[in-house]
Amino acid sequence: MSQVELKSVTKRFKTKTLGLVTAVQNFNLTIREGECFSFLGPSGCGKTTTLRMIAGFEDLSDGEIWLGETPVSVKAKNLYVLPENRGLGMVFQAFAVWPHLSVFENVAFPLQVRSESRSEIEKKVKEALRQTNLSGLEWVYPSDLSGGQQQRIALARAIVTSPRVLLLDEPLSNLDPKLREIMRFEIKELQRKYNFTIIYVTHDQAEAMALSDRMLVMDMGVIMQVDTPQNMYNNPINQFVFGFLGLSNFLTVEWADGKVYPVGKKDNPLDCAIPAGFPERRAVMALRPNEIELVTEGGLRTAIKQRIFLGDFIEYRVQVGETELRIQSIRDQGFRVGDNCGLKFSRIKWYSAKKDKSDEERERRKII
Ligand code: ADP
Ligand code: MG
Repeated sequence: MSQVELKSVTKRFKTKTLGLVTAVQNFNLTIREGECFSFLGPSGCGKTTTLRMIAGFEDLSDGEIWLGETPVSVKAKNLYVLPENRGLGMVFQAFAVWPHLSVFENVAFPLQVRSESRSEIEKKVKEALRQTNLSGLEWVYPSDLSGGQQQRIALARAIVTSPRVLLLDEPLSNLDPKLREIMRFEIKELQRKYNFTIIYVTHDQAEAMALSDRMLVMDMGVIMQVDTPQNMYNNPINQFVFGFLGLSNFLTVEWADGKVYPVGKKDNPLDCAIPAGFPERRAVMALRPNEIELVTEGGLRTAIKQRIFLGDFIEYRVQVGETELRIQSIRDQGFRVGDNCGLKFSRIKWYSAKKDKSDEERERRKII
C-alpha cells in the first residue's frame, strides 16, 4: 500500500511584488509505507508548502492528496480533512515548543486534546520521552534546556500519538553540526523502532542522503528527480541536481575539428571525446573536485592559483577561461601556487548549455 500519494498537486500564491507565484507545480509522487523520503531543494523551492498541504494546513490550488486508501484533499470535490484527523505527526524548523509548559505538558498536549485518560497519557508520554532521551526532564521548562533537547521535545510530541506518517520540516537546521549528526542518527533509530513513514524536508544534501531510502530534488516548485540517494548522486538528471548533491565544477566547452575546448580557447583542448547528443556543439561539463587529476605534462593547461591544505586532502583552485575550478587531491603531488599544470578528468557528466524554464523562473523571482 502506498502511504502518501500526491496527484497533480499545484499550489499558487498571489504575492504583492512577484504577482502569481507557483510554489508547487504539478507534483506527482507516491511515498511507500515505512519509507524515509526526503524533499531536498534550495530555500524557496516549495518544500514547506508541499509538506503543509500534506498536513492539511494549506489548501491546494489543484490536484489530490491521499493517505493510504483515503483521500484527504481533493480540490475538484472540495474535499478536505482537518489536520488533526489525518493521523500525522509534524515537527517544524523553529523550536515549536510551548515555553510556559513543562516538558511533560508539552508532550502530553496532543493526547489531552484527544481527551485520553490520565493513565494512558502518563504511559504514552513516558515512552515518548524515553525514546527521545528526555527521561528525567519531565518537569523542566524548555527554556532551561539546550536547542537539541528542545527539538527532542518537539519530536516526542510528534510521536506520542503514534502517527503513521511523520512530517519533519528542517527539524535540525537550528542545531550545531555535531548535534545535527547525532539527531539524524536518533531519527533513523526511531523510524526503525516504530516503522513510521517519514517525509523529511531539508536543504542539506548530506542530511537527505544519510536519512533517506529515496529522495527528490526540487527547484522552483518542480520535481527534478526522484531516486535513491546513491542513484541520484551517480546519475543526476540535470546540472541543477548535480550541483545540489555535492561539490561541483561546471565548465562550458565547445568543439570543432574533432577537438573539445573551453569556450573560445581552441588552442587549449581537452583530452576527451566529443559527447553525443548536443547538435549545438556546445555543452556543460560537470565535474566533482575529487574527479579531476592534476598532471605535469599534457591535459588541459592551466596554473595553480591557490593551494589550501585541509588535512585529509589538498584543495587547489585553477582558472580556465572565465571559470574557476576546484580540485581536491588526497595525494600531495608537490604543486605550488604559480606552477603550470594540466587537468585530466576521470568522470565527466555532460549537460545542455541551454537555459531551461527553471532558470528563467529563478531569474524572474530574483529580479525584484
Ligand atoms: P521552501 O520551504 O522550499 O523554502 P516554501 O514552500 O516556503 O519554500 O515557499 C515556496 C514559494 O512560495 C516561495 O516563493 C515563497 O515565497 C512562496 N510562498 C510560500 N508561502 C506563501 C504565502 N503564504 N504567501 C505567498 N507566497 C508564499
Ligand atoms: Mg521551508
